[in-house]
Amino acid sequence: MVMAPSAIAIEEANTTVVTDNQIDKVDFVDTNHGVESDVTGLASKALIQKVLKEQIARINVDTCEPGEEDAFYVADLGEVYRQHLRWKMNLGRVKPFYAVKCNPDKEVLRLLAKLGTGFDCASRAEIDLVLGLGVSPSRIIYAQPCKTKSYLRHARKTGVSLMTFDNTDELRKIKECYPEAELVLRILTDDSASACRLSTKYGASLEYAEELLGLAKALDLNLVGVSFHIGSGASDPNSFGKAVKDARDVFDHAALLGFDLKLLDVGGGFVDETFETFAGNLIEALEEQFPANIRVIGEPGRYYASNAFTLATNVIARREVAANHEGGKGYMLYLNDGVYGNFSNIIFDHQHPVPQVLSAAAATGSPDGVPEMIEYSIWGPTCDGIDVITERYFLPGVVEIGDWLFFENMGAYTRCSATKFNGFSDDHEVIYISSEPGASALLGY
Ligand SMILES: *Cc1c(COP(=O)(O)O)cnc(C)c1O
Repeated sequence: MVMAPSAIAIEEANTTVVTDNQIDKVDFVDTNHGVESDVTGLASKALIQKVLKEQIARINVDTCEPGEEDAFYVADLGEVYRQHLRWKMNLGRVKPFYAVKCNPDKEVLRLLAKLGTGFDCASRAEIDLVLGLGVSPSRIIYAQPCKTKSYLRHARKTGVSLMTFDNTDELRKIKECYPEAELVLRILTDDSASACRLSTKYGASLEYAEELLGLAKALDLNLVGVSFHIGSGASDPNSFGKAVKDARDVFDHAALLGFDLKLLDVGGGFVDETFETFAGNLIEALEEQFPANIRVIGEPGRYYASNAFTLATNVIARREVAANHEGGKGYMLYLNDGVYGNFSNIIFDHQHPVPQVLSAAAATGSPDGVPEMIEYSIWGPTCDGIDVITERYFLPGVVEIGDWLFFENMGAYTRCSATKFNGFSDDHEVIYISSEPGASALLGY
């Protein structure tokens, strides 16, 4: 882990990149979402640009040691902080349990721990990572319906008692390994409108849920609630309404069997662009279906992490080709990061990262100051043909070998699913900054 040069440098950056007018807004911690946060977002972008440029100015691809020009991240923890404020404003009733798998970055986890969120962990390593921050085991949900037996014993030993299940074998396994665990029944949702469907793998149908309730009763297990996940990257804002209603049915059936359920877990699937709409629908459904004495938690992942990370990559090679348009000339660019690395989100998370030019002599060098738009395809460094970042994209000016491209919104399902395929590193430097004084204070930046 690499910290930004120093707290003082950040301080400096903060005041040099924004106009006087904007400084007030940057310092305005409790912004409501809207005008203020847009200004804050701009100031944050300017700060990230400054840090990216300072970093690449330190690297000379003609003289550097092997790997010194590796792709690197700038992580703005202020963005995580703003997302948290936005969550509290729109979903005050729902306590977030951050889905660690999305990006188990130590600084993100440390900030969220200080902000008081809970954590959704799915493995022994994720549990230990979060406990290692000093977080109480009561702030963890082991939200993996199909658990490894030895991990279950580990959960018992460390006191992580809240966990999900969705099948009879799992109930018997829990009876054997951790009979006093607090169980949350995960039900299916209709997630056909989401980018990453989860209900093909996990979740009990309402019919099957009745059988599971019966077995939990027969085994005398400690059933405390119901969970669901509308799918990652969901596009139908009504998904929450339907799922909350289904959860209500399970609560009612459980009551008939003598269970007194107290917890509803609405899962993840929140996306930056549609957050307010989905949150509105969810709150409305909760108000209709669940009285205030029911504790509600959520498991947001990408909502917190996605926008906080910007990735800078170096152009290591180039090939001139005929462009698609008549008579035009284009280029294939080869970057030092690709789908086997941090762009794993293209394969696993169906994302389309957008390239932007960070440094290119030619892009700013045209006489009238308006560089021509040139057609590129952009590739990763491995020898595999699947390793393509974008097949067709127009960038201003001619990008040369040694230039840098950057990609915003690279914080979710990127680093965590990167591989070392072909000998390229999966361990990239992260420069941590904060565009929010509130986050800086918590983190000591
Ligand atoms: C992946 C996952 C999440 C997080 O999903 P996002 O779409 O990133 O919010 C939450 N809960 C469970 C059980 C998951 O598997």
